[in-house]
Amino acid sequence: MWVLLKNAKLYCPEYTENSDIVVVGTTIAAIGKNLSLPDFVEGEIIDLQGKTLVPGFIDAHVHICGGGGEAGPASRTPELQLSQITRSGITTVVGCLGTDSVSRSLAELLVKANALQEEGISTYIYSGAYRVPMKTLLPTLEQDLVLIEKVIGAGEIAISDHRSAHPQISQLEQLASEARVGGMLGGKAGIVHVHLGEGKRGLQPIWTLLEQSDIPITQFVPTHMNRSRTLLEQGIKFLLAGGHMDLTAGCDDFPEDLQVPSVLIRLNQSQLLNDRITVSSDGNGSMPQYNEAGVLTGMGVGSVEVLWRDIRKTVIQGNVPLEVALRTITSNVANVLRLRNKGMLRVGYDADLVVLDEDLQVQDVWAKGKCMVRSKETLVWGTYEGNSLAKSEWFS
Ligand code: ZN
Repeated sequence: MWVLLKNAKLYCPEYTENSDIVVVGTTIAAIGKNLSLPDFVEGEIIDLQGKTLVPGFIDAHVHICGGGGEAGPASRTPELQLSQITRSGITTVVGCLGTDSVSRSLAELLVKANALQEEGISTYIYSGAYRVPMKTLLPTLEQDLVLIEKVIGAGEIAISDHRSAHPQISQLEQLASEARVGGMLGGKAGIVHVHLGEGKRGLQPIWTLLEQSDIPITQFVPTHMNRSRTLLEQGIKFLLAGGHMDLTAGCDDFPEDLQVPSVLIRLNQSQLLNDRITVSSDGNGSMPQYNEAGVLTGMGVGSVEVLWRDIRKTVIQGNVPLEVALRTITSNVANVLRLRNKGMLRVGYDADLVVLDEDLQVQDVWAKGKCMVRSKETLVWGTYEGNSLAKSEWFS
């Protein structure tokens, strides 16, 4: 199948004068100006009339098979459905477990990732969950990384959180060294995706580990770094020391200066918005609220929609160039997680594409060359969602 997308404003994520993209099958086959399809093919030509075309978004922290459970069985969140992901412009997700690794398992997570891949998007997973010693699919994390294609790291490993296992430095050290060697042998990033809670110690356990071991700072990707002002300052220090920082979108009940748009605007103004900063949604996880005594006072469920919503807000309100803000959910994520052929518009890369309308809202979405959303309408539904016609297609 050949598709020619014409007359677009291309952000690859860097802006380019080119305006046309040819997709052949699942791949970007050409990028240029005034392109046409060869005579011998019958393809589709789509005139984008000056709209913006960007790489599909990568969400590196999604509870795809459900999460939550902190307020008892009824607070477990449901599985995420395909169209919720694609409508948000997301074409690649990294699935993870969370607090609950008793009623949720890595087998469930892996199979859900396989299901979403079969339904059309690209998926990866982290091995493990909040607690250390971590649970793995095979006997060790190293084996998971080397032998299971979808496993790209460990996560989300919780520290400085009352829900964490309060791991010893030596336990974290052992985990990180397995992630490192497993990643090397498996050709993966092998990063440790670290959940930071509101606990007293903040990033201190990671600093201590770095001081006493030979593990490089880049082995860790701390997330939820915009959870508190203290943590954000620690995150900036970590960043300045060469580390990564992942911010969580959609924290609407946080003070304004901790929400993703404000943080990205601030980092951009201080020229700190580099390629080690990423944004993820924590989508489909529970959002428990605790009072000062640590008593649970309410529950919500995270949406993946907030990923683009917050980046769009950053661009519109903060005067941050689209190509700069966009990197935090495309090329930066692909680099940090070593996702091949992802996160950029390049010849030979996967045809994961998002068309944004004049208002920078997600209009059309292609995942590996297949149109999933057109004019904001879902074209491809997950197996058990949408209308019965779409369902019967799956099994015919
Ligand atoms: Zn988390």
